[in-house]
Amino acid sequence: MKAIVYHGPGNKSLDDRPMPELKAPTDAVVKVTRTTICGTDLHILKGDVPTCEPGRILGHEGVGIVDSVGSAVQGLTVGDHVLISCISSCGQCDYCRRGMYSHCATGGWILGNRIDGTQAEYVRIPHAQTSLYRIPPGLDEEALVMLSDILPTGFECGVLNGKVQPGSTVAIVGAGPIGLASLLTAQFYSPSQIVMIDRDPNRLEVARQFGATACVDAGGQDPEAEVMRLTDGVGVDCAIEAVGVPATFELCTSLVAPGGIVANVGVHGVKADLHLEKLWDRNVAITTRLVDTVSTPMLLKTVRAGRLHPEQLITHRFSLSNALDAYDTFSRAADTHALKVVIEVS
Ligand SMILES: [Zn+2]
Ligand SMILES: [Zn+2]
Repeated sequence: MKAIVYHGPGNKSLDDRPMPELKAPTDAVVKVTRTTICGTDLHILKGDVPTCEPGRILGHEGVGIVDSVGSAVQGLTVGDHVLISCISSCGQCDYCRRGMYSHCATGGWILGNRIDGTQAEYVRIPHAQTSLYRIPPGLDEEALVMLSDILPTGFECGVLNGKVQPGSTVAIVGAGPIGLASLLTAQFYSPSQIVMIDRDPNRLEVARQFGATACVDAGGQDPEAEVMRLTDGVGVDCAIEAVGVPATFELCTSLVAPGGIVANVGVHGVKADLHLEKLWDRNVAITTRLVDTVSTPMLLKTVRAGRLHPEQLITHRFSLSNALDAYDTFSRAADTHALKVVIEVS
């Protein structure tokens, strides 16, 4: 089968690989129909994710059709249309029982990281019973690719950890797919303001269409001064970091109001400074999280009900044979205006 394979920092290629097989009775093999590229895949290619070793098939998002199931998997049969969660969870270990699937003792974020991922014609899914979600009939599978990772990540790591409430003021630093996913799902709670901060005017325009109440172009404007102006000089109740570089994390800590929360979502590859000399008396909290995907069933319901339209995030489509072009388009988002690129596999 064809697959996108990581060959060390800066290197990837479309290779021929053997078909995956069931290794444990709790596994399933899924024939991938659609997958996508994540900002995290770019972090892997930068060398930020040392657990991902050369030779690994990339990708942790996708939908497909169950091709084979292990004898211990209940509730799934060959031919089922399924959403693949980016997090594999056994459902039984201490962490899973606390709803912290991201730290499952035998799972977590392993797809396209510690084991072969979804940017391929077929993928083996461990703990299939608790890591795949049957797709109700009639749902647009392309939209659901956004539910493998970015919607639950934006919602859980940004909105839930940031404790967005009715009337809250929110700043989201980074208007890429994850920041936009936080923007879309923050609106479940009717915050009074959602200020989007980015350097890309196109992404800010998209954010405005998606419901941002104000947009700050960090290329020309001073984000801290703008946020203070918009919040009567106090800052925001929730600052969501959706980039993953030191400057944007430090910016978030300067935007947060006393009593507020900095909710980090970004994948960080290098250290950032924490200005405790400015923060120690401000009653703020800083949260970090790897998405648990506990909200996936809820998000499926909101998409099914037409309350959430994740297909808005899709800007480009490629076939698997052109997946390297998909990477090129996605990695040059400022020029190509790419948000999410869908790879149509079969
Ligand atoms: Zn991802
Ligand atoms: Zn577990």
